[in-house]
This record gives sequence, C-alpha cells and structure tokens, in this order.
Amino acid sequence: IDEFLEAKALGIQTRPVLLGPVSYLLLGKARDRDLVLLDLIDGLLPVYEEVLRRLLQAGADWVQIDEPCLVLDLDDQARACYRTAFDRLAKAAPNLKLLLASYFGSLKDNLATAAELPVAALHLDLVRAPEQLEAALEAAGSKIISLGLIDGRNVWRADLRSALDVLERAEAVLGEDRIMVAPSCSLLHTPMDLELETRFDQEIKSWLAFAEQKISELVALAKGLRAGRDAVREELAASDAVMQSRRESPRIHDDAVAQGLASITPDMMERQSPSAERCRLQAEHLKLPPLPTTTIGSFPQTTEVRKARAELKRGQRDIASYESFLREETARTVRWQEEIGLDVLVHGEYERNDMVQYFGEQLTGFAITEGGSVQSYGSRCVKPPIIFGDVSRPAPMTVEWSEYAQSLTARPLKGMLTGPVTMMQWSFVRDDQPRDVTCRQIALALRDEVRDLEAAGIRIIQIDEPALREGLPLKQADWQGYLSWAVECFRLTTSGVRDQTQIHTHMCYAEFNDIIGFIGKMDADVTSIEASRSQMRLLDAFADYRYPSDIGPGVYDIHSPRTPSVEEMVALLHQATQSLAAEQLWVNPDCGLKTRSWDEVRPALINMVEAARRMRSEFASP
Ligand code: GLN
Ligand code: ZN
Repeated sequence: IDEFLEAKALGIQTRPVLLGPVSYLLLGKARDRDLVLLDLIDGLLPVYEEVLRRLLQAGADWVQIDEPCLVLDLDDQARACYRTAFDRLAKAAPNLKLLLASYFGSLKDNLATAAELPVAALHLDLVRAPEQLEAALEAAGSKIISLGLIDGRNVWRADLRSALDVLERAEAVLGEDRIMVAPSCSLLHTPMDLELETRFDQEIKSWLAFAEQKISELVALAKGLRAGRDAVREELAASDAVMQSRRESPRIHDDAVAQGLASITPDMMERQSPSAERCRLQAEHLKLPPLPTTTIGSFPQTTEVRKARAELKRGQRDIASYESFLREETARTVRWQEEIGLDVLVHGEYERNDMVQYFGEQLTGFAITEGGSVQSYGSRCVKPPIIFGDVSRPAPMTVEWSEYAQSLTARPLKGMLTGPVTMMQWSFVRDDQPRDVTCRQIALALRDEVRDLEAAGIRIIQIDEPALREGLPLKQADWQGYLSWAVECFRLTTSGVRDQTQIHTHMCYAEFNDIIGFIGKMDADVTSIEASRSQMRLLDAFADYRYPSDIGPGVYDIHSPRTPSVEEMVALLHQATQSLAAEQLWVNPDCGLKTRSWDEVRPALINMVEAARRMRSEFASP
C-alpha cells in the first residue's frame, strides 16, 4: 500500500500485484505430513480481504492477483478452493477490478475453473502456451483477456507481426474493449536494459530485447492494433529483419554442429560395461578406502580471489600475474586437502566466476552480458549467459587447471564440469529450436572435454547437474519426455570414457522421490546429493529403488555458517546406512564451498574426515 501511494503521489496510477492465496498455500511446504495446506485458506483469506479493501480505499482501481499454480495439474479440491477464495475476494471490494494472472504454461484443464471465477480480467501466457488462445477466447464470457505476447522469461526480440496477428484475432472475437496486451509474465526474469551492454556487436544486439526494450515492443503492438499496421510500418519491418537474420545468420547455424548431432548413435550414450563391472575396475584403479571422503568442487571464493578477478577485468592486472595467483591458491588448496586426509581432491574452482558463465565464455554460440543480472533468490543475482547459436567447443576448457592440480598430488583429483542440462537451464536459451536440440549440442561439446580430461590423466570426472530437477515441466504429462532427453544428454556427455574412469554427478536441493528412476538411468558411478537438512530422509527413495551405484549424501550443510561436529556427521552417516549399504557411501558436504569462508570450511572438513575414519573403524571391527 505504501508503494502504491508513493507512485500515486508522483501522479502514476499503478496496478498492485499480489501473489494469490491459493498459489501462496500450494507453493508452501508442510512439515507435518498430515497437514493439508489448502485447509489453511479460511485463516488466510481475511488478510487478503483486508489488503484489497485498503488498496481500494487508497485509490486503486485494478489489482492483479498472480495464480501461477493455475497451470499445474490440479485436483478437484484445489479447483474448489479457487472458487471459494475468489468468491470471497470479489465480495471484499466489489468496486475493485481484479486481473487474475496465469503464466509459464497453459491453463488447459483449469481453463473452465479460471473462466468461472468472478474477476474482471484473465491473463494468459501466449509465449509458453500459444495453443490455449482459441479455447480461452471461447470461454472468456464477459471477461477481458490479457494477452501475454512478449516473452518475459527470455531475451529475444518479439516477432511483432505474429503477435499482431494474435491480437487482431482476439479483437475480432472479443472487441477492442476486452483485450489487453502484456508481457507473458513479470519482467523480473529478464535483464533491465540492453542499451547498457557495450560489448555486444550490432548483429547480436539486434536480436535482443531486455525489459526496457520489451516495453517498447508492447507499445508498438498496442499502437499497431489501435492505429493499424501502417502506423507501425517501421517497427514491423525491423522485427521482420531480425527474424530473417536469426533464421539465416552463419553465427547461429553451424553445419559441423548439425552434422555432429546427426551422427549421434545409441552406443555413444552407453558406457562400455554395466555399473557393477565398472565399480570393480575402478576400485582396482583408484584404490580408495571404504566411505571415501571428497568435496563438491569449489573452495572459498575469498575477497582476494574476487579482487584478483576484478583487477584482471579492469586491466589492473595482466593475465600472467592473475594465473600465477590462481595457481598458488590452487596449490595451497590441494596441499591442504592432502594434509587433512581427504581421499579424492579437487582443484578449488578459483578460476571460475560462475559455474555456467565460465563455460559460456569459452563455448561458441554463447554470449555473455555485462549488466544482465536477474534475481536468483532473495538478494542474490545471477548473470545468465545467452545461448544464441549452435554450440561448439573451440578448445579444451578445464584441462589445464585439472592437469596442473593433479600434477601436485598422487591422490585422484576430480575434474569438474557443469552438465549440459544445467548449462542450458541456467542460461537464456534459443527459442528458435527445441530445447533438447540445444542441450544435445552442449552435451557433445562437453563430451569432448570429458575425454580430454581422461586423456590428460584425470581419473575421476564430476559433471554437476543441480538444475536437472528444476527443469522438470510443470505438467506431469510432459515429465517423461523431458527426463528422457535430459538423461540422454547427460549420458552423451559422460559415456565416452573407459570403464576405469569414474563419473560423478552432483545435484543439490531436490525432491528425488518422483524421479529416482531417471537418476538411476543417468548411470553415474557416484551421485552426491543434498541430504543433511532433511536428515537423510530423501535416501528412502534411493533405498526403495535399490540404487545400484555409489551415493554421497551431504553430511555437512554448507548453506549454514556453523561447524558440524564429528558426532553429528557420524550420526547422519549411521542414518544413511539404514537405507544404503556402507559400501555404497561416500562422505562429502552437500554442495560446493565457494560461499563459505576458510575459517568455516577448515574445521568442518577436518571433522568430516574424522567422521569417516570413525565409521571405517566401526565397520572394520567385527
Ligand atoms: N562444483 C560446483 C561447486 O562446487 C557445484 C555447485 C552446485 O551444485 N551448485 O561449486
Ligand atoms: Zn550443489
């Protein structure tokens, strides 16, 4: 309300946005398994009613209520809850017009429910789900339809001509007074202003629209509808030119990549031997103790590390001095890991600014923004690279660092790569080809990197896929399709190596129960997961599935600054042995250590190594 009034005082009438009550509950997580979240609606609605009444008093005429859960698979109880909730909201402030917003998918089976609700307008995401238009026009009744035609989740310029086609179609059915034009969803997910980018060349820049540019596109669409196509002749011609350039540019289409994709054969996605056989060979080759200890990859990105990188960027440090600084950090970290007795070492990832951007900077087909930050969560931001063209790897990306670090120790040092699904999921992705094609291209590039690491003497290679679960489609009917190609891409990345080479994968914070079969199909030799905060509960899924390979359930929650004690980690490992065989277990933190300080990391890892030792002696004594 304060924000509404602040804008109003400046003479700007805004439309306040609230997350709707049903989605608010459905997106929550109940600790008590018997609690039905939607049963809390009666307690919640009075708060919404009051907010709406106060907004009306403050002078609002429209309020937008976001209900993203309307594009999920809902049961009858949830649909009924929508009816109850919106009946009450509509009555709370009858003179207020409500705009009910859905996005990221199609209303599909929930269209009838949404169309029945007593709201003035209904927003549709016609970028993610253009196919829902006709049914929605038909079901609209007397509602206004807000047409989400500008992609709020991506950075591409819109095809204005096609968007105008849709607008004109909707106008023909509903009339000019009953349509609105809008971005597909909030612009929170796109960077702010393309004009702030100075490094893009004109060609790439001409393909892009950030939030500011998207608003101009909306204005052009509205003008085109009101005043006719002639009034926006120039805008349409410019948009046509962009579409044509993206269809034809040699920067985007690389025949060699297309050929690579066409020559993928099923055997490229199969390791030579089944996991049990590989396990035996790797045991001989690596000679690791039971319950081997390791970390997930990164060590603290200290102020000094970030300062050195910033200096390099600003030209205050040359590349030679930057790299020798990184080599020292790496060497110190390798030595320290040896000293405290970790079994499988890492190089620390000091050279990486980010686990996606670092690779994006080295792959063809990726562009890096300067100011393209978007919110990740809370006050944390990420700067997703833009995948604009066919992806290939002009040169090895990580081999030098891994080789250098391995040269410092006799113990196995893990090579460290970000997996194809995560690379794609955490970038802005091309919208001119299916996501699985883009993902396969990345997988082929990474496959070469994996083989180069092996050839350089790296015996263990970890391919991080923290975003695999996050990429799951919103509707369950689409899960199978996504998971099959996601798993294929992972296997394409990893299956080019000898049996002796051990493949690890890492996934953080995810609910595994419903996709455990697919995690098994990834066929990694070792999988590390977040498990400490859930007290190892998620291992049940692995136990029920009889997971065949090794698992490193995180025993140390790196998201918290506190030092876990030896006893605590031993207890967690004991819990893990309830669901898994001790022979299957690895001992590791639940994610990378880059956000922690050395003062936190040192005692925690020393305790972790001790916890593993105690477990070993327990299992060794009869
Ligand atoms: N290897 C990465 C790291 O240790 C993995 C990070 C992640 O899973 N998000 O930082
Ligand atoms: Zn992680």
